[in-house]
Amino acid sequence: MNRIEAKRRNDLDHRKKQFAEPAYQETQYPHRLNFYSTPPTADITLEEFEQWAIDRLRVLAELEACSFRNKTPAETAAHMKPLLDKYLPLDSTSSNHSQLHSQRQKDHYSHFILRLAFARTEDLRRRFARVETMLFRLRFQTDDSRERAAFVRTLNLDWEPVYDEEKRELAPQLAAALGGKNARDRVMEEDWCKVDWIRVPDLVESRRVYLRGGKAYVPGREQQSMVMNAFTKRLEEALELTARALPNLDEDDRLSPILDHLSKNFIAPDSGYASGNGAPIDGAEITARNIDNLSQHFPLCMSHVHRTLRRDGKLKHFGRLQYTLFLKGIGLSLEEALIFWRTGFRAVSDDTFNKEYRYNVRHCYGDVGGDANRRSGGYSPFGCQKILTEHAPGPGEAHGCPYRHFTIENLTTLLRATGVTDPAVLKGVKEDTEAQRYHIACNRVFEHVHKAELKRAKEEGILTAAQLETIVHPNEYFKRSYLLKHLDKAPKPDRDVKMEGA
Ligand code: SF4
Repeated sequence: MNRIEAKRRNDLDHRKKQFAEPAYQETQYPHRLNFYSTPPTADITLEEFEQWAIDRLRVLAELEACSFRNKTPAETAAHMKPLLDKYLPLDSTSSNHSQLHSQRQKDHYSHFILRLAFARTEDLRRRFARVETMLFRLRFQTDDSRERAAFVRTLNLDWEPVYDEEKRELAPQLAAALGGKNARDRVMEEDWCKVDWIRVPDLVESRRVYLRGGKAYVPGREQQSMVMNAFTKRLEEALELTARALPNLDEDDRLSPILDHLSKNFIAPDSGYASGNGAPIDGAEITARNIDNLSQHFPLCMSHVHRTLRRDGKLKHFGRLQYTLFLKGIGLSLEEALIFWRTGFRAVSDDTFNKEYRYNVRHCYGDVGGDANRRSGGYSPFGCQKILTEHAPGPGEAHGCPYRHFTIENLTTLLRATGVTDPAVLKGVKEDTEAQRYHIACNRVFEHVHKAELKRAKEEGILTAAQLETIVHPNEYFKRSYLLKHLDKAPKPDRDVKMEGA
């Protein structure tokens, strides 16, 4: 991620200085829910700008993954709860939480930052509006009912209340719209409203409202869908307006790179594999001679490269690069890496290996090369985003992501060869890859292969919020797989966030 040095940040262009002071007072947040009608205007740091957006993006990407995997609303709510608590907590007003204002501020700002990032194309706008509506619905359903009603009243949705006298007068018709047992008794308890019928065509079509004089009488429980429709409609309109204003933003060289990175992340998520994540797993034997054994925990991209190396005794350039960095990421030391590659390249002589390959391995580890390479410790392992989008493999090359770069026939054969034969899983993988949801296919296989261990870990509540997120990095795949298969030996993760209802 590009960061702008503090010195440059302070040295603003004179044309931008007019915005150096907040133009308006800080926004107040009387409600937990937000329709995001007013853009934020107070100052935040560039770091907050970036971090808040990344946190929201994690939540949205996970919500999207839930819908891709056809999770029910209850499963989605249970899956999302720890992630929301961690990345985007939002407490009710009645909780009197000391961080209420900062929670709501983060929610407000992060929404608008992502709006800037995802207004660029029609496809991004559509996806953003869809997942934001999912997030809003999740929060709407879990909101305190009195606070929710107070919030809905602020929306000016143009609803007319239906008073008791009218309810009594229309009781038989309203009861018919309600349906079910004791409908007549429930008419008076329901919080009815009436709106122009053209605003609720879905409710009219499914006969869930009573129609009279061009008005639809809507029971309280159906009002949620009206609020959701209004949320989506307003957001879609706002995104169109943002898209038109975007060219003006291109001048701002502080924000453009961040927004650019964020929108790419939404296309193919990137985990930003931090060095902490790459720390060797305690107790794991990460040595050259144990790689064959460890390869049972590799994602398909790496197990394919590994098998090709074992079969051919050599590997082309990008395969070596992708695999060397992956092995470095799982904790293989440089010395062990050199042993691994020397023995793995059985088709070449010592002389050729030393001349043509040894240097590249050392370069990946930052052992040779320019000062910058040495200082940074060489290259970082590739995430799914990079593998999926850069350097598609050509004939005879083994790198890349099989979910993306293989035909469905070859992919199915490869999966079967690794023991994935369940027809439902294979069918799901086929659908995922046809819809270009490659990492979802990979996660589907991960969940299938680790089904028993995941069940146990969830039952014992030992998965952290981060371990519930969709995998978007081969090294994360390895780490989770290894830990799940060694549940008894693995250090207990911090239990700050426990699974609920899983
Ligand atoms: Fe590897 Fe990522 Fe593709 Fe899975 S989705 S096979 S981890 S590149």
